[in-house]
Parts: sequence; C-alpha cells; structure tokens
Amino acid sequence: MTRMQLAHRIVGEIPSDLRRSLRRQPLKALTDIGLHVQPVTQMTSARGAGGMCDGMSFSDRRTILFAPTQSRRQNFTLLHEYAHLLLDDNDDALSWLADQEQPGVEQERMCDDIAAALLVPDEDLDAIVGTGPITGQHLINLFQDSEVFSTDWSFGGGEDECRFGDGADSPRAQPDAA
Ligand SMILES: [Zn+2]
Repeated sequence: MTRMQLAHRIVGEIPSDLRRSLRRQPLKALTDIGLHVQPVTQMTSARGAGGMCDGMSFSDRRTILFAPTQSRRQNFTLLHEYAHLLLDDNDDALSWLADQEQPGVEQERMCDDIAAALLVPDEDLDAIVGTGPITGQHLINLFQDSEVFSTDWSFGGGEDECRFGDGADSPRAQPDAA
C-alpha cells in the first residue's frame, strides 16, 4: 500500500455529499460536521521567523485553528488539518506511518495528498486529463473548473507547519518513544 493509495482510500470513505461540500465550502462543511474551526489572526503563513504556521489540529478536542487569508490557500490548509483528524482515526494509516522511516514527514505528505484529492477529485482529473500526462493546459482547465483549486496548493502544510497532536500518544510521530 502506498501513501497515495491510503490517502485516496481515506478520501473514498468520506460520504460523497460531504466530499462535495468539503470541496466547495471547507469551512462551512467542517463546522457542519461538528468540528470547532477557529480563525487565529495571529497565525500567519509568512515564512521565516515572524511566521508561525498555517494551521493546527487538535484531535482529542476536534478542533482546527487556521490562519485566515483571503486566498484559496486557506481552503487547502483547512482540508490538510482535517486530514490530520482523519488520520488519527484511521488505524491502517497509523500503522503504515509507524512503519515509515520518517513518519512525521510522511504524515504531512499524506495530509497534503488527502487535501489535494478532496480539492481535485479523481473524477475531475480523469475527465480533464484522461490517462495521459498532466500538462499546463490541464492545470488551467482544472483551475477554471474549481472554485477552490489554488495554484499554490502544493505548498499547503509541509515541514514548516505546526502540528500539535494529542501529546505523548502520537505513535506515528514518535515511533521510538517507549
Ligand atoms: Zn500538517
């Protein structure tokens, strides 16, 4: 099982109507399913010493904090943080991550994969790209077709993003902790 396969399976387990609303209005969709989603203006996506991070998720409190921006990047951040919550509830993903050499890095990548799969569903990708390689024109078509697709989505989350898990009980982040 590859990281991408796991990510797509997790996305596939989300009911299709929820997937649709997550794609169209992530903030509203997450709030509607009972998560506490709070903008924190002090957070910023600016890189460097002044910036904190784009988002944080707190699994046991079902809470997502995010840096509010006017850009569509915010949607990616929200879905990335939501992915953390999904992973924390997914035993297959947790055990896969625990087997990785860099579980923390792989976890962030998997959250990016999940957010990307939510923003650009496979059906859309298939319809626009077909089976061949993705070209620049495909990206433009995807961009025009999607309200939330953002050209900088691939930079959502990542290494400089904060992650506050449930504390010591994060086996995938601390595989060697005894
Ligand atoms: Zn993350």
